[in-house]
Amino acid sequence: MRQLFYGFLLPFNSIFKYFTKGTIKVLAYHGVKDSQAFELQLNYLSRAYNVISLKQLNHHIETKQKLPVNSLLITFDDGDISIFKEGLPLLKKYNLPAIVFVITDLINSKKAFWCKQVVETLQKSGKTYVEARKKVNHLKNIPESERKSELQNIPQLEDEQFSTEMILKLKKNNIEIGNHTHTHPMINNCSVAEIEQEMKESRRVFENLGLKENFSNFAYPNGNWNLGSEKVLIGQGVKTAFLFDHKLNKKIINPMRISRIRVNTYTPLREFKTKVSGLHPILMHLFK
Ligand SMILES: [Zn+2]
Repeated sequence: MRQLFYGFLLPFNSIFKYFTKGTIKVLAYHGVKDSQAFELQLNYLSRAYNVISLKQLNHHIETKQKLPVNSLLITFDDGDISIFKEGLPLLKKYNLPAIVFVITDLINSKKAFWCKQVVETLQKSGKTYVEARKKVNHLKNIPESERKSELQNIPQLEDEQFSTEMILKLKKNNIEIGNHTHTHPMINNCSVAEIEQEMKESRRVFENLGLKENFSNFAYPNGNWNLGSEKVLIGQGVKTAFLFDHKLNKKIINPMRISRIRVNTYTPLREFKTKVSGLHPILMHLFK
């Protein structure tokens, strides 16, 4: 039924794509869960869009020089290991650039990303998936100091994370590394001092990786932001900040509020096309 609906929308996709060809589309992925479906998506993107790099975007922001029509940026949040294992070979095959926003505290560690830690350990202790997700949502909505102390009561979970070598290999293959904070707090629940501490720690990791300049490209964890946090980030030297709002960018992009369209690697192609064209984001916000 769902795919029939997207089939019905297909002709409108081209119309939408045409009318939004002068905007920069930015896709927000997480991990690469279905490499077969992801390959179909990359194949489509490589034919239908001009996939640009972070460098091209930054050059456009600095110089106001025009980008090609149908410019599109591929981004991933959280730095899941599948991006290296499954994503890199496919991006390389289609010669497509991308950006991975990493949680710097996890690099070269065996720690799981805290949302995964909560979901998996609670499920192991007998809670349902829904109950575990509820706990994650609760942690996303409390002050940062409380999130930190509540997390300490949840057992650690081991997970494979990016190593320095993997990060450098990604970069060598045109996959830029961006900043997604040090521990993935909700920035809108943080005090100024807490945001500054997160930035201080992530800056140190970027410097140790030899990627000092990458620090200034930032994606808000969970997309949560507010005017106060934006001001703090600018003060910390952040030059571009990416949201998670499932919206299209205006013709003139605001570098500190770059909208992104939410997608998954397992999204079937018809649905994916509707999302990327901008039709799905507009319908979703109309009927929300
Ligand atoms: Zn994230």
